[in-house]
Order: sequence, then C-alpha cells, then structure tokens
Amino acid sequence: MITIIGCGPVGSYLGCLLSDKGINNTIIEEHKDIGRPEQCTGLISRNMEDIIPKDWVQKAIQNKVNGAVISCGKESFEVVAKEPKAYVFDRALFDQAIAEKAKDKGSRVLLGHKYLSHNISERGLKIGLKTGNKSVYHQSSVLVGADGPCSKVAKNSGLYGERRFWIGSQAILRAKKPFFEKDKVYVYLDKRYSDGFFAWVVPINEEKAKAGLASLSNPAEHLKRFLNDRFGRSGSDFAVEGRYGGLIPIYKRMPLQNEQKNIFLAGDAALQCKAISGGGVLNGMLAAKELSNAVSSGDFDYEKRLGKIRNNLWMHSLIRNKLNSMDDRRKGHLLNDLNNYNVKKVLEEKGDMDFPKKFVFNLLLSKPGLIKYLL
Ligand SMILES: Cc1cc2nc3c(=O)[nH]c(=O)nc-3n(C[C@H](O)[C@H](O)[C@H](O)COP(=O)(O)OP(=O)(O)OC[C@H]3O[C@@H](n4cnc5c(N)ncnc54)[C@H](O)[C@@H]3O)c2cc1C
Repeated sequence: MITIIGCGPVGSYLGCLLSDKGINNTIIEEHKDIGRPEQCTGLISRNMEDIIPKDWVQKAIQNKVNGAVISCGKESFEVVAKEPKAYVFDRALFDQAIAEKAKDKGSRVLLGHKYLSHNISERGLKIGLKTGNKSVYHQSSVLVGADGPCSKVAKNSGLYGERRFWIGSQAILRAKKPFFEKDKVYVYLDKRYSDGFFAWVVPINEEKAKAGLASLSNPAEHLKRFLNDRFGRSGSDFAVEGRYGGLIPIYKRMPLQNEQKNIFLAGDAALQCKAISGGGVLNGMLAAKELSNAVSSGDFDYEKRLGKIRNNLWMHSLIRNKLNSMDDRRKGHLLNDLNNYNVKKVLEEKGDMDFPKKFVFNLLLSKPGLIKYLL
C-alpha cells in the first residue's frame, strides 16, 4: 500500500500511474474541495500532452496562447508562434479532473483528512491523520509527500532542508470592454515589480486576465504598484474579481527519499519548480512518473531516476541567477539583442518554456553575441 499526501496534480497523477500498474494507493487531501483555495496562474505548455491525454483536462482549459511579449522599462521583445504553445487552465478544475481519473483507475481518495505525523516500525508506517475533531490512523508500506512547498511529510522525515520561496500574488482582472490580447502572455522583468522574479499578465479572454507577480519580498506592495502602473490610469475600467497567492519553491538539489526508501517527496514538496517561470506542474508530474517506475520496479531508487529532471531544473536556476544578476538597463539590452530575425526564428521554431536545453545552443548559434549575457 502506498499513501500519497496531497491531491494536487502531482499526487493525483502519481495515483493514476500506480493504479495503472495495479499498485494499491490512497491519496489523502486536507481540503474537502480539491484545488481550492486556488493559487496558480495555470499556464502549462503543450508538453503536457506528452504526459497526459488532453481530453483528461479539456474542461479545465480557459485559453490557449501562442507567444509572449517580454519587457523591461521601455524595451520589449515579442515572440509569437503560428501554433498555440501553452494552455491557460482553471487550476481547480485541472486538479479535480486528474483526481477524478485517479479514482476511476482505482485510487482511493480521502478528502477532508489532514496528515499530521507518522511512525516507522517493523510493520511499516503508521500515519496519523485528522478529520474534523477525530484522529485516525492509516497503515502503509510507503509514504509520498506530494503536499506542496511547505511539506509536512518532508518536515517529519528530516527531508525539509533549508528552503527558500518566491511569494506569488495574483489578481483576476475584468475589463469593462475587450482589452487583453487573447493569444499573448505579457512578462515584465522590471525590478520595480519584483525582487528576484517577474510580473505577468496571462489572458483568459479579451475581457479577463490573471495579473500577478512573484517576489522574494513585499509581494502585496509590488502587486499594488504593478496594477496601478499597468491598469490604474484607466480607473474604473478594470475590476479586481479575486486575489490569491502562494509560495513558489526555489529549486535546489537535495535528498528526496529517506534511507529506508519508504518515504519520498515529489512536486513542490521536492522543490521541483522551474526557476525561470515558476511553473511546477509539468516537472512535478514527470517526477511522479519516475517515482511510480521506481516503486513498480521494486528497487525504490527514485533519486537515481531523477537525473534528467534535475539537470533541467539546474539549467533553469542557472538562467534565473543570470537574469537576477542583471540590472534593468542590462535586461533592456538583452531584450534589444533578442530583437533579431534569426533569434526570433529559433525561438518560434524551437522555443520551449520547459526545456531550455532544447534551444539555448541554437540561440547562441543564431546570435553568438548573446554569450556575453551568460558569462
Ligand atoms: C502565484 C502562483 C502562480 C503559479 N503559476 C503556475 C503556472 O502558471 N504554471 C505552473 O506549472 N505552475 C505554477 N505555479 C506552481 C504550481 O502551482 C505548483 O508547482 C503545483 O501546484 C505543484 O503541484 P503539487 O501537486 O506538487 O502541489 P500542490 O498543488 O501544492 O498540491 C499539494 C496538495 O497537498 C495538500 N496538502 C498539503 N498539506 C497537507 C496535509 N498535511 N494533509 C493533507 N493534504 C495536504 C494541499 O491542500 C494541496 O491540495 C504557480 C504557483 C503560484 C504560487
């Protein structure tokens, strides 16, 4: 029996994979309503279709985007592909759809149960849960923490380490008349809007968008400034329909399984978020796949299977650190240098928001002068 804590996309997808392999599993979620409170922008690239069939999450698609406009101060750079590159999802519906699949495939899903603790004995793991005012216990041979960035499973297993986070804050904006370009995401690199990350506007349709940012400090203050600068002048032309936020873990390599190989971490609990964009759904699901393979093979060597995922996340961190070391002027120069026919061609054809390795080399070939930004 495998017990998975967290009915987010990573926990539920792991449940799907284990059930497909005929391995008994229970997914435990503290909330009664899966996916709420919502925290995420829901921008996920079409690489997702290589992991799960699109029809699993069709109902959760709010929009499709073909490209991005990236700016810093007065400089900007636009890259738009002919085909949609990413989906904008309603994250609660997305999470619910994957959890529903897990149930259909045979996973047991326990909602309204909060994981509190566990004990390891010769008989396996005794997992302590709370539901309402009641304490209940659950016996398992393996425990997986897919319980998000502040993972209690990690804390209780000595796997938490020293974690750092960007703090995300987002508003849902409704414009009184069509305003947003439906097929483009807007990214703002200005230090004025974020300490160590960026601000974004992701359209849901022409009248509605998710406008937010992540920052190492003062997210509320940064968001107020961002919304005032970008939408404030129009006064009552925009209404804020909702606000939410959450933590984005900053990736670093660390142990993700205990010595006995019966406790594992995946997804945000394992810091498996891309440092360039903050996206964690896709890499977390890829890690869930590796974990299910490690369990079904009987060797439980999850970490050994994480090489590719770790290399990719490391590359994201490297690029993020380079970007963070630049002041706004230099970021403006970089955007100016990217405004080049050959560079745009490479990005339109090979650009991939998940796997920079796929195009960075071609990008440097298309404009060797860009190397100075990496040095
Ligand atoms: C503002 C913001 C915007 C983002 N935008 C994007 C984006 O556009 N694209 C993208 O890919 N990623 C984005 N992310 C990151 C993304 O939300 C996460 O990477 C993703 O949700 C990770 O999935 P997960 O299943 O690992 O964890 P979560 O989705 O965090 O799921 C963990 C689950 O565990 C449950 N849980 C926690 N503790 C317990 C407990 N003790 N007992 C029982 N259950 C528990 C929680 O209730 C939750 O349901 C964003 C994050 C933020 C904060």
